[in-house]
Amino acid sequence: MTGMSKRPTTVRYMNLAVTDPGERQALLEAVDAVLGHGQILLGPEVGRFEERVAAFCGRRYAVGVGSGTDALILGLHALGVGPGDEVVTTALSYVANANAPALLGAVPVYADITEDLTLDPASVATCVTDRTRAIVAVDFTGRMADLPALEAIGRHHGIPVIEDASQSFGARLAGRPAGSFGDMACISFNPMKLLAACGEAGVVLTDDEVVRDKVRAFRHNGLVNKEECRWVSHNARLDTIQAAILLARLDRLEAVLTRREAIARRYNEALSGVVVVPRLDDGQERVFYTYQVLAEDRDGLSAHLSARGIENKVHFRYLLPDHPAHAAGARRHYPRAKALGRRNLSLPCHEKMTDDEVERVIAAVREFYARPRGGAA
Ligand SMILES: *Cc1c(COP(=O)(O)O)cnc(C)c1O
Repeated sequence: MTGMSKRPTTVRYMNLAVTDPGERQALLEAVDAVLGHGQILLGPEVGRFEERVAAFCGRRYAVGVGSGTDALILGLHALGVGPGDEVVTTALSYVANANAPALLGAVPVYADITEDLTLDPASVATCVTDRTRAIVAVDFTGRMADLPALEAIGRHHGIPVIEDASQSFGARLAGRPAGSFGDMACISFNPMKLLAACGEAGVVLTDDEVVRDKVRAFRHNGLVNKEECRWVSHNARLDTIQAAILLARLDRLEAVLTRREAIARRYNEALSGVVVVPRLDDGQERVFYTYQVLAEDRDGLSAHLSARGIENKVHFRYLLPDHPAHAAGARRHYPRAKALGRRNLSLPCHEKMTDDEVERVIAAVREFYARPRGGAA
């Protein structure tokens, strides 16, 4: 290899700086409009964003909330989840999926995953008891869970299904958009997500007016008519400034998804057989929130990439029931989550990467598996 003496620049896992001048101008104008009209709390951009997201996801109603975590808490609360209830969810996800039911006094029950890292309907079916009050599916990595099968389980038992589409915004399955499945969808728009605020933001999607009105009250200390507190809740409104930013960014989403998919296709072409690559073109239009491979000696590969200036991440180091805060979870049988959770690694895959950076990642992964390695595999 050439140029070994000069250390190449870091391949960033993600870069939240707004580097595109057109995007920067659009965001500054969006913020400027809010500063001008002064409706900082639940201003008109919140309503406009709610309408756009509802239409985008094929739902009747969207309620903008403070974060994806708030969406899960308020959404579960609006479905009546409370102390002693059980909520079945995946063992492999972001910790908000365990915290949200737990904060409501409910018990998270962890079902297993399939080879594509999403919730396994067969395992969910074995987790349902007469205390189950909700099933929360996560479209992990941007790949849609088997939501039709999960909806069928929910219908059979009369249990609401929630689609956590935080990682799949813009994806489609069976002609239906992410966020349209189940009785409710909860979505995060935090700065890492495909549609990203410049701060915290989230939304609850529903077709049910009663649920919509409850979430609207829950995001504002349980107040109805701005005066009477009907339910104990907290403050979790979507900021007008974030809604304005999200509206501006919604117009650019397609470009983000397209670039990420192109990178993912190049990775798949160059890395299949070296590591297990995500499935593509198998009947769903997934998106790439993360590009996760299943790798032998995952931690060795991670260290190898880091040493070459290539940022990478393990999503997630802990299964939900392995977090100390959630050690008292109700279920211990998720063998696939245990096995796959030791092998998955997220490679950088974002719209600001150059083709050269993509090739550097590929070369470094191939190099790791080409050379003889000592120690435990
Ligand atoms: C990001 C994320 C959340 C949490 O969203 P915040 O906006 O950070 O609170 C919840 N669920 C999933 C699957 C996520 O990826």
